Amino acid sequence: MKPLRFDNRFVAELPADTSESLQTRQVHGACFARVKPTPVRAPALLAWSPEVAQLLDLAEEDVRSASFADIFGGNALMAGMEPYAACYGGHQFGNWAGQLGDGRAITLGETVNSRGERWELQLKGAGPTPFSRRADGRAVLRSSVREFLCSEAMHHLGVPTTRALSLVTTGEEVVRDMFYDGRPRAEPGAVVCRVAPSFIRFGSFEIFSARSDLTNLEKLVDFTIARDFPELDGDVASRRNAWFEVVCERTAHMLAHWMRVGFVHGVMNTDNMSILGLTIDYGPYGWIDNFDLDWTPNTTDAGGKRYRFGNQPQIAHWNLVQLANALFPLFGKAEPLQAGLDRYVDVFEARSRAHHAAKLGFSHYGEAETDLVERLHLLLADAEVDMTIFYRRLADIDPGAPDLAVLEDAFYSVDKLTAQGDALRGWLRDYAGRARLEGCDPGRRRAAMNAVNPAYVLRNYLAQEAIDAAEAGDPGLIHTLLDVMRRPYDEQPGRERFAARRPDWARNRAGCSMLSCSS
Ligand code: AMP
Ligand code: MG
Repeated sequence: MKPLRFDNRFVAELPADTSESLQTRQVHGACFARVKPTPVRAPALLAWSPEVAQLLDLAEEDVRSASFADIFGGNALMAGMEPYAACYGGHQFGNWAGQLGDGRAITLGETVNSRGERWELQLKGAGPTPFSRRADGRAVLRSSVREFLCSEAMHHLGVPTTRALSLVTTGEEVVRDMFYDGRPRAEPGAVVCRVAPSFIRFGSFEIFSARSDLTNLEKLVDFTIARDFPELDGDVASRRNAWFEVVCERTAHMLAHWMRVGFVHGVMNTDNMSILGLTIDYGPYGWIDNFDLDWTPNTTDAGGKRYRFGNQPQIAHWNLVQLANALFPLFGKAEPLQAGLDRYVDVFEARSRAHHAAKLGFSHYGEAETDLVERLHLLLADAEVDMTIFYRRLADIDPGAPDLAVLEDAFYSVDKLTAQGDALRGWLRDYAGRARLEGCDPGRRRAAMNAVNPAYVLRNYLAQEAIDAAEAGDPGLIHTLLDVMRRPYDEQPGRERFAARRPDWARNRAGCSMLSCSS
């Protein structure tokens, strides 16, 4: 394959650990440890994203060359790559967890494309690092398929996210106790190449603060600003203040989008929060089928439901507070940090209102509209209604003659539809009355609503079907889903099944409803 150009600023400008051994350890006074991927038996390309290849100036023939699977399966390095694992800490489920770090992620380098854009290439599942603790540094096919597909689906939905270039199977098995019930099984292993301008996390800053290492906290902050936020100007202090504010703003945008499309991250620990405001670390995430603000996809979270759908905006704020606390010793003042946190609240509120308005086809969102949305959320939950289908079909409602039958596809239970029928018709009547005030023509109304209400999302059971088929030797559904998710807002004739309600069999099946962190 053709060579890529590398400019590895992270390793060039930040301190490295003095040891290059794979021995698990506490890494002090360094942002990373140099480590190479551990080769695998038989790397084979299973899927790749044409859009991400294009970002990297790679042609189809490059991706299909034998050296591609070698490099992106971890068996070879390209000239210019300087692989490393990053050190970071994090708050997990609300508690400080100390050093975590890239336990199975290895950055290969920062490539700069022909347009001057910088993209960090990172393998996930490429073998042990000093941060692997007691784990193996590997990833199973099922979690790799989920990360690969969801990264790209989120991008095409317009949600800020890290990307995925490739999904390579390793020809090796990985043993996982998927249900944590003492019955481990061998599963096929895989490596995903993730791509983003940076994989720096909130926890990357927290670790230095927790260790009272202000020298390196300062280095990392100023490096991040210089490399990833070059648009900020002014003196050092004002740049840092502006930077924190932008981090808060971007996080708010991301959260508002998650709520718009019904994405539940599942593990919003501070080590899984990108400093660029990108969705990062796709683990036991899930998509809302029936609207339920209390739903969490993560079995580990089932007790406290900290990371439930409706709690995500508050958790992001809590995570930003942890970041602010970590930055405080460097900033020396609380005001700019508080200003950033306030900005998060304001931007999230504003974006969220704008999304609610757009989803309902309204050009204005005030008290009356808020009331409609609040009533709707209660009804959607009580009547067990599919979020995606409901909003999509709402565009087909004629405000002059609203008919509940138009929305029937969205209901999971005939009984609940019957029981809530009067309340639903009452809401629909009020909604139609409000929609009539917009006075825009039906075609424009539908197009505007369909541009924010996707027809296709990566429903949990669809990803699971693709995984089952891939494990049985047929990756076809991965390719189909990747293609469907490239145009989530377009009707795709012949592909209606991918826009349908979750089937009954998937309601309580592992992988389709709840997921464990085992991956
Ligand atoms: P996560 O909850 O997936 O974001 O992971 C939390 C921490 O556990 C991170 O430091 C990961 O790198 C590490 N980790 C998760 N799975 C593995 C694994 N199979 N091998 C090594 N480290 C892992
Ligand atoms: Mg993580």
